Amino acid sequence: MEMMEQLTGVRRCPHCSIAAPLLYRVWHSKQGEGTPRTDNQQRKAWAVYLCRTCGSAVSAVAYGPYIDNSAAEIYPSEKQAHEDIPPVARTFLQQAYDTLHAPDAAAVMAGSAVDAMLKAKGYDKGSLYDRIDKALADNVLTQGMADWAHSVRLGSNRPRHADIEKPHVSWEEARQSVGFAEALGNFLFVLTARIERGILAAKAAEEDS
Ligand SMILES: [Zn+2]
Repeated sequence: MEMMEQLTGVRRCPHCSIAAPLLYRVWHSKQGEGTPRTDNQQRKAWAVYLCRTCGSAVSAVAYGPYIDNSAAEIYPSEKQAHEDIPPVARTFLQQAYDTLHAPDAAAVMAGSAVDAMLKAKGYDKGSLYDRIDKALADNVLTQGMADWAHSVRLGSNRPRHADIEKPHVSWEEARQSVGFAEALGNFLFVLTARIERGILAAKAAEEDS
């Protein structure tokens, strides 16, 4: 990602997910000076960009005090579905992130991601409705999570079945659905994998000592 008049090389806007966003610079730190700091660490160059599509701000920081460097990080970062989530669910979740600018599509993808996550946990019989209730009965989901999962399911059904009364989901509803799919993925897979790796590392350390 190059921090010039425009921030280039960003695949999708981290806010609205539009592809190849036009991010134009509205502020940057003084060339060669970076931003002032009192902790005696190396100064860094910062710049703020606005997305032409959604108007949201993305900040970028360079390795040194010069802004012609490539960006080390951007905030917020681009949405990436975690690699510990099983492949099918991860693909749906990534598509949910990538379609946030199209709420109906994002809501449907969030529903598919939740469905695929429960299937990956062995709940492969019946409908998503059945899967959620079975996972609740088995204490894989808490009551609150099951309620939320049902609301994601309903939100994905409306555009999918072109609901007569309310066919579209709002931008906010889509964000909430995608947020839940992400949280469920973290809870069911990412956290578990991290804990398992931690336990293995602790065991290996014990054997070494
Ligand atoms: Zn945007």
